[in-house]
Amino acid sequence: EQDVTEYRKSLSIRVSGFDVPRPIKTFEDCGFSLQLMNAITKQGYEKPTPIQCQAFPIVLSGRDIIGIAKTGSGKTAAFVLPMIVHIMDQPELAKEEGPIGVICAPTRELAHQIYLESKKFAKPYGIRVSAIYGGMSKLEQFKELKSGCEIVIATPGRLIDMIKMKALTMLRATYLVLDEADRMFDLGFEPQIRSIVGQIRPDRQTSLFSATMPRKVEKLAREILTDPVRVTVGEVG
Ligand code: ADP
Ligand code: MG
Repeated sequence: EQDVTEYRKSLSIRVSGFDVPRPIKTFEDCGFSLQLMNAITKQGYEKPTPIQCQAFPIVLSGRDIIGIAKTGSGKTAAFVLPMIVHIMDQPELAKEEGPIGVICAPTRELAHQIYLESKKFAKPYGIRVSAIYGGMSKLEQFKELKSGCEIVIATPGRLIDMIKMKALTMLRATYLVLDEADRMFDLGFEPQIRSIVGQIRPDRQTSLFSATMPRKVEKLAREILTDPVRVTVGEVG
């Protein structure tokens, strides 16, 4: 315990919550499958970033997380890799449809970046990834969603549109990520986020990542996450 405390302090990491899992130090510590390890190596990722060292064991254990770390700290892989594990752990539910992993991001550029990162790790498993955001044909997106996917990455407004058009249901969704939550709030997406969250079963696993933590984001996090572990890396909000 003492060395974990020292280790966190040396990296300017603060953690709160009950029964916080010990951080990992290497990708091998995560128990990832050989396939996933190969995909990680292919990316040129040699060791997990500080936020990943804290987040992997928390998210892999099924806990909710609030992850606060500045841009460029590797938050995407922190939720994408455990999402692949989560999806592969699901029993086959032939009758159910719709995504298992739902990721909300503030802008199309960010949604696209997350899409690319997810694809790299999903592809070896045949996990289907769809990106849904404004500026693309709704009809094309409708058709794509209708053909099925395990992961959907979306801007909140467009995801609501697609749900309204019955392009997808949230019946199978158990892994929700709100990425760049502060920016989603800045862009006025709070009502859309609440609506999306309200359609996903309450026993889902939820992750919220942000570069800063304004009070209104904190309030939402407290409402929609269950016993989250909160991890802050560096000197941020
Ligand atoms: P954030 O979401 O915190 O802004 P990103 O997830 O976009 O950060 O990651 C920033 C960059 O770091 C990306 O180019 C990503 O591919 C890279 N990256 C992520 N994890 C690792 C790692 N463990 N080792 C090396 N590079 C990494
Ligand atoms: Mg990010």
